[in-house]
Amino acid sequence: MLKLLQSLPNVHTLLEDSFFTHCHNRVVLKQCIQSILEKKRQAILALELTSFSLEEMKEDIARFYRSCTQSTIKTLINATGVVLQTNLGRSLLHPQILEEITPFLSAYNNLEYDIKEGKRSERYIHIKHLLCTLLGCEDVLVVNNNASAVLLVLHTFGRDREVIISRGELVEIGGAFRIPEVMRLSGSELIEVGTTNKTHLKDYKNAITPQTSIIMKAHQSNFKQIGFCSSVDFKDLNALAKEYDLIDYYDLGSGFVQDLSKEEPSILELCALSPSLLSFSGDKLFGGPQAGIIIGKAKLIAKLKENHLLRALRVDKFTILALEATLRAYLNGELDKIPTLWMLSTPLEALKIKAQKLFSSLKDLPFAKLEIQEVISLAGGGSLPQVPFRSYGILCQSQHLKVSKMAEKLRKKGVIVRITQDCICLDVRCLFEEDFEKIKESFLEIYKEENEK
Ligand SMILES: *Cc1c(COP(=O)(O)O)cnc(C)c1O
Repeated sequence: MLKLLQSLPNVHTLLEDSFFTHCHNRVVLKQCIQSILEKKRQAILALELTSFSLEEMKEDIARFYRSCTQSTIKTLINATGVVLQTNLGRSLLHPQILEEITPFLSAYNNLEYDIKEGKRSERYIHIKHLLCTLLGCEDVLVVNNNASAVLLVLHTFGRDREVIISRGELVEIGGAFRIPEVMRLSGSELIEVGTTNKTHLKDYKNAITPQTSIIMKAHQSNFKQIGFCSSVDFKDLNALAKEYDLIDYYDLGSGFVQDLSKEEPSILELCALSPSLLSFSGDKLFGGPQAGIIIGKAKLIAKLKENHLLRALRVDKFTILALEATLRAYLNGELDKIPTLWMLSTPLEALKIKAQKLFSSLKDLPFAKLEIQEVISLAGGGSLPQVPFRSYGILCQSQHLKVSKMAEKLRKKGVIVRITQDCICLDVRCLFEEDFEKIKESFLEIYKEENEK
């Protein structure tokens, strides 16, 4: 054992080895060498290693170096049919939007600079006009994400005051965003009214005290109550707040501009009520970059801007530029530049043609079953959980591989699928035609790997 330990090369010999000339960062290389040597030492001491090959060890070091210096972010193919997935990066930005904003990202710009006066300006002005034009609201503010928006609103107006909200809306959104926790964090006192399934307007009214500051509504997002249940429309809360001179605030979660649902009001319809405040995510149904968009009364937005918390939640130039380009796409009617929107509004007939194309590219592979079927896709991202988006998918099964195993192998090749009726289901809604070849290649590789076993 001692001999084996002594025969381990030392760090310097390895550092000078010509095998590593391509590893340009010597500091990282040294760390990798030390780490691999230490592992070997431990393995020898634990009697798990009785010999080693220097060549293999060098390969290990080189592999480790590569893993330390390479990106872990990979592009994926989304064949799940769920358009908005937080785990997969939510809304996609169109390459054209990226092209439009690139020059401003790689040059100095007037993000916060008043060129005419030669002095400091405000970053939010670049989007204010566009957002107010699009949504018909008085004023806006943009923060890092909608969770930040909720925190900022509650901290600014609810701190040491009371905020009334229905028990049915004390929701948790994926990734542990919980309304009661955010409320606590903001220093607001949560006044819950009604019951889990039913809340009436009078419940809110009876809870109003001199300490009340906000009447809040939160979108239930990722779940839907059916049966014996009722909630109060924002329209009525807005009227109640006006009557008592309180702030009405709607955490909309995923607001949409286009008519995506008949059951829920769009942001435009809500803005028509001239709410005190309303906030939603930039990268859910709105289809832009990650952001928390707050719209409402100018005097309240001005108060939000005075809160020092805003400095910690402020957006960077990338967000402002990407949001601005998205807004211009909306205003110019170029909705094809907003992938989330075209994915959700592709006509069923077009999806069928897309599915037929994918089917033909896969039909020569040795599947036990391969067929086109009408399926249901979802908007995802906690939005419109009750709206079924009709779509087409390819259902397939292999002769020998279990469906879960096949899904796992596809996943490792960057193709994310869902499993339906004990089949792999490739929903075409979020696929690009360029993906078809890659999907076929992935199946081919998997079959080849199976045959080689
Ligand atoms: C998604 C969501 C949030 C959080 O928004 P992020 O942009 O992810 O921070 C907050 N409230 C509701 C109701 C939501 O649906």
